[in-house]
Amino acid sequence: MAFDLTEFAEKVGGDMMKAQTLSAPHPVAAPAILGTVRASSWSTMFDCSLRWYYQNVMKLRLPSGGAARLGTALHKSTAVYDTASVAGAVPSIEHACDALVDVIHDPGADVQWDDDLRPLDAEAIGLALTRRYVAEIVPTHEYRAVEVQCTALDITTDSGVIRLTGTTDRVRLTDDGQEGIADIKSGSKAVDTNGRAVTKGRHLQTGIYKLMAENALQRPLDAPDEIIGLQTGKTERGQRVGVAEIADSRTPLVGFDEVPGLIELAARMLKAGSFPPNPQSYLCSPKYCPGFHKCRFHD
Ligand code: SF4
Repeated sequence: MAFDLTEFAEKVGGDMMKAQTLSAPHPVAAPAILGTVRASSWSTMFDCSLRWYYQNVMKLRLPSGGAARLGTALHKSTAVYDTASVAGAVPSIEHACDALVDVIHDPGADVQWDDDLRPLDAEAIGLALTRRYVAEIVPTHEYRAVEVQCTALDITTDSGVIRLTGTTDRVRLTDDGQEGIADIKSGSKAVDTNGRAVTKGRHLQTGIYKLMAENALQRPLDAPDEIIGLQTGKTERGQRVGVAEIADSRTPLVGFDEVPGLIELAARMLKAGSFPPNPQSYLCSPKYCPGFHKCRFHD
């Protein structure tokens, strides 16, 4: 099930234009968009803003690494499975696994595999995790929507309008009847030794996903955000799945008392064209930063 916010906005916008035409013959200029921020890039913006600028404004790119490709493949396989469930069909683990294999071995994808993770390694890990997801996560979850797409959510701040885009992985229904979002994260440290998904810093993205899904669905999602972790270890012991909730992702985004939230701070950065570097970032390296060879701030 997918929701297209643009279609929704066009419907609302169409009615608004008619109303404006009746009361005011002159067109009303829409406020200028300061910038467009993909939800998945949100944490980069507050890690190294200059890296965000290189990636999203200058459009500098690095080939995707094997780990990122495995993450994309896991998103695909789990979405294939859950989409069938939400549509009322009988989900097929074979179809989910086929989708994973297709993504990993896609000859058109620009992926830099290395000896740490070859395509066949990724395939074996991905298949094992897809099966664990179906066996351990699916039975405890009821989803209302899968991959809720948002092509444009414009948020007006004191500094101007910021446009958000992205896809919310899941809208879930909790045991107490509330709806909330769930975000799938894969990686070598996605699940801790107690079997809980790692949530540190994830609220930056999940808060955005929640805002986008609420606008697409036009109703509040009151349940806590949830992270579904898929740990991509090479051994069976390292291939764990787990979940954990995030209590409050809204306050950091919208602010509190007189303190501006991250959306306002992002708008100020975009308005000022000011993107501070962070040479202490964990991802400050030529492997992860496409602007590394241009940047003069790292050591
Ligand atoms: S090289 Fe480091 S400091 Fe410079 S933009 Fe990239 S991540 Fe930021």
